[in-house]
Amino acid sequence: MQQGEFKNLARKRILVTGGAGFIGSHLCRVLLDRGAEVLCADNYFTGSRDHVRDLLDNPRFELLRHDITFPLYIEVDEIYNLACPASPVHYQFDPVQTTKTCVHGSINMLGLAKRVKARILQASTSEVYGDPEIHPQQEDYWGRVNPIGPRSCYDEGKRCAETLFMDYRRQHGVEIKIARIFNTYGPNMHPNDGRVVSNFILQALQHKPITIYGDGSQTRSFCYVDDLVSGLLRLMHSPADFCGPVNLGNPSERTVLELADKIITLTGSRSELVFKPLPADDPQRRRPDISMARRHLEWEPAVDIDEGLAETIRYFDALLTARKAEGAD
Ligand code: NAD
Ligand code: UDP
Ligand code: UDP
Repeated sequence: MQQGEFKNLARKRILVTGGAGFIGSHLCRVLLDRGAEVLCADNYFTGSRDHVRDLLDNPRFELLRHDITFPLYIEVDEIYNLACPASPVHYQFDPVQTTKTCVHGSINMLGLAKRVKARILQASTSEVYGDPEIHPQQEDYWGRVNPIGPRSCYDEGKRCAETLFMDYRRQHGVEIKIARIFNTYGPNMHPNDGRVVSNFILQALQHKPITIYGDGSQTRSFCYVDDLVSGLLRLMHSPADFCGPVNLGNPSERTVLELADKIITLTGSRSELVFKPLPADDPQRRRPDISMARRHLEWEPAVDIDEGLAETIRYFDALLTARKAEGAD
């Protein structure tokens, strides 16, 4: 464990918006382990109390049902703004609410940070690069985003959030940090959010057909959630003059077909591959250039994909077993 990450957070009051979601629940746990007081604010759109159930008895943990598109008046020292549905099925379910969460939600959290002089970190995304013309993507690449397509509520919402963060810094001197997160996986991923890792693992465990969209030659780079959370902590505790945006992700790139093969092998599945149409605006290649994170945060992912997938497979296996038991009751 390196210094910036292992900061003692005793007595720090930290707000995690979207803390009952996939990444947020892991972040809350790590912050509590470091001694912080954690306030988790979530409207449970895609998150769940189950993800933080084991934290509820901790006197330093507080769970608040709150939608960040509404103002929030509390006293905190740090804010991690993670609230936002992250997968296409969820962010396209109510696209207007997605944009509101990104834009109004950011304004409210930045207004809060400004009033209480808290540091605030924004969970941005590789989607700000859209379907990129350059590869791998560096932070100074401005992206190629369709402003009017089905993914735009998320992509443009997150881009506007970055603008707001930078303007609150320039105009009001708020201490901001922006993380551009690339595809992340691990336990507590939503089972029905249609993401490739959760879909393939659930299909493989049930020996159902593995759904490859397009010909499966498109690439992604998958980062295990523990690595990502350690990157978020390092960024939050980086020097005040460094605000990013900084890419956080795993630079090891693979095709969707390679991922399917790996998951079939790791689960010992009898699943076959079926090919389905590629969704609109689906980026063909994605891999982070993480030189900035290496340089400024001394951070890089440490968890090997086989190890990370094995942990995630155990999680989904237990989930399926629990569901079966519930069904049998
Ligand atoms: P998630 O859907 O599991 O978590 C998001 C959480 O935000 C959920 O608990 C949801 O209920 C909550 N939420 C949504 N709208 C809200 C609102 N208006 N007010 C309060 N809470 C709200 O997703 P995740 O994968 O944990 O993503 C967390 C953050 O990281 C998101 O901002 C996402 O855009 C970003 N991100 C994630 C990935 C990834 O691969 N998982 C990649 C890039 C960026
Ligand atoms: N806000 C909040 N909590 C606070 C302070 C502000 O939710 O502790 C919200 C409030 O709704 C406001 C928004 O943040 O509309 C932006 O605040 P800011 O002070 O930047 O702007 P203004 O209040 O002038 O609109
Ligand atoms: N994908 C797939 N089968 C699935 C789910 C996704 O082939 O069952 C593909 C999808 O088209 C995309 C890649 O896997 O090319 C990653 O999809 P995901 O939704 O996980 O992330 P994103 O597209 O947001 O990077």
